[in-house]
Amino acid sequence: SLVEPRSRDEDQANWALRPRSFDEYIGQRSLLDKLEIYVKAASARGEPLDHVLLHGPPGLGKTTLAQIIANEMGTRLHVSSGPAIEHKGVLAGLLTGLGEREILFIDEIHRLSPVVEESLYSAMEDRRIDIPVGEGSSAITHSITLAGFTLIGATTRTALLSAPLRDRFHIVEGLAFYSDDELAAIVERSAAMLGLPASEEGALEIGRRSRGTPRIANRL
Ligand code: ADP
Repeated sequence: SLVEPRSRDEDQANWALRPRSFDEYIGQRSLLDKLEIYVKAASARGEPLDHVLLHGPPGLGKTTLAQIIANEMGTRLHVSSGPAIEHKGVLAGLLTGLGEREILFIDEIHRLSPVVEESLYSAMEDRRIDIPVGEGSSAITHSITLAGFTLIGATTRTALLSAPLRDRFHIVEGLAFYSDDELAAIVERSAAMLGLPASEEGALEIGRRSRGTPRIANRL
């Protein structure tokens, strides 16, 4: 399909074409206004941003927004995904690698296994993760205190998420499909970045055929 899957080459092109700041981002105006306020407030307090859940169909800009939030907070984004976090150890590795105010982005967060998801709860709430050390009767649980981090989760549908996980996100926002004009603007921006000529009518024609989705617009 035009939406998925993504090849590695395309992933690289996608990264190159991604807007890097709120100012460069086209569309999703009301969502951006809210995110800007959250980011400004957290930055002014010198605190990490509250955990954020972004939901919406693939290709609308969830990953892009996570990177922009990190840029605007002046911090680092660590990227992973639900299927890649195969067991608790992987999650513990990711979480203990986070510095103060850094951001962990988990794409397709609804695909975390129940065991991994459960250990995420204490991490999100108490900045703590329990790791079993040793085996059998001599095994002990080691509790590790984490830095004040932010989790940004992305999912195609919040309905796929368990209630306990959803409730631990204080900022829950959806992305809407883009208008033809917004998609045309995205096409023109991408064409300019790639050094390709694009007419206004051509960009609008592509925008109209992109099913409201920037990833499809860039692909076309
Ligand atoms: P998602 O994570 O929701 O699947 P992505 O963030 O990967 O979507 O976005 C797909 C591609 O669409 C990105 O590589 C980016 O180039 C482009 N894109 C998304 N939103 C915008 C936007 N508002 N302006 C310009 N390009 C965008």
